[in-house]
Amino acid sequence: MEIDGKAAALARSVEALISADVNARGSRQLVVPGDLLLAAQALLAAGSVAIVTGFFIAAAGAPETDGPPGALILARALVRLGKPVVLVTDAWCRPVFAHPALARWTRDVPVMEVAPRLEDGWCARHRITHLVSIERPGRAADGHYYSAGGLVLDPYVEPFDTWFLQRRPGLVTIGVGDGGNEIGMGKVLPAVRQHVPAGERIGCVVPTDRLVVAGTSNWGAYGLVAVLSYLTGADLLHTPAEELELVAATAAAGAVDGLSGRPEATVDSQPPEVLEDIVRALHEELAAAARRVS
Ligand code: MG
Ligand code: MG
Repeated sequence: MEIDGKAAALARSVEALISADVNARGSRQLVVPGDLLLAAQALLAAGSVAIVTGFFIAAAGAPETDGPPGALILARALVRLGKPVVLVTDAWCRPVFAHPALARWTRDVPVMEVAPRLEDGWCARHRITHLVSIERPGRAADGHYYSAGGLVLDPYVEPFDTWFLQRRPGLVTIGVGDGGNEIGMGKVLPAVRQHVPAGERIGCVVPTDRLVVAGTSNWGAYGLVAVLSYLTGADLLHTPAEELELVAATAAAGAVDGLSGRPEATVDSQPPEVLEDIVRALHEELAAAARRVS
């Protein structure tokens, strides 16, 4: 019980840290308190994990830098914990993962391009027990997929949210998002409609069992890895230097900043110094928690 209380305290600190509302999108109001810890605990019990990611920025003709880094760091952590894991994306976002610039990061993690319209039973066939979405568009109430700014993205989105909507018995679902229009946000749809600009129009109606909301979705994935580190005592979180390398590699692989649309090593307009600061702060939270334990 004592250990549970300490894990909950660490998870609350991490939840507060990663949900910094850096782009005034109401992210702080969308947080489901406690879901970060529950999501991490669920992943520890996972048999086999699929992580769906990739958000294509139609205006720039390229995927964004938010999503793939978080997915790769979470996947690496799960691999280190001995979990079978696969990254799943669509034809629009696959080229970034296939680019040599990301080779170091994709070496130990299989990345599959899947067309969910044709692969209805994919999760069952691959014996997936836990399905994670990181910064992946999910349908709004009118059935369309939207950018944060309200543009219809339907031609650029394979409907992975169908797998989440099916709610196959025994399949645990986890959503990570930052703007209200991603898979999982259906869990907090009234809050999205109240707090997110254009939330009425863009709010995703697809819920997940657990929802992690962050200032940028990468940070949500890093928060999960931080809590997994605490729960297992393993050093799973990447370093601030690796964060800079990974985001730069993602941009070099063809991704763009999701807000500016520019091919830069930034994430949702957050510059490199902010990105490395968040990772550094997560390490400090873990160190502080370790001191509390001893
Ligand atoms: Mg987003
Ligand atoms: Mg984002």
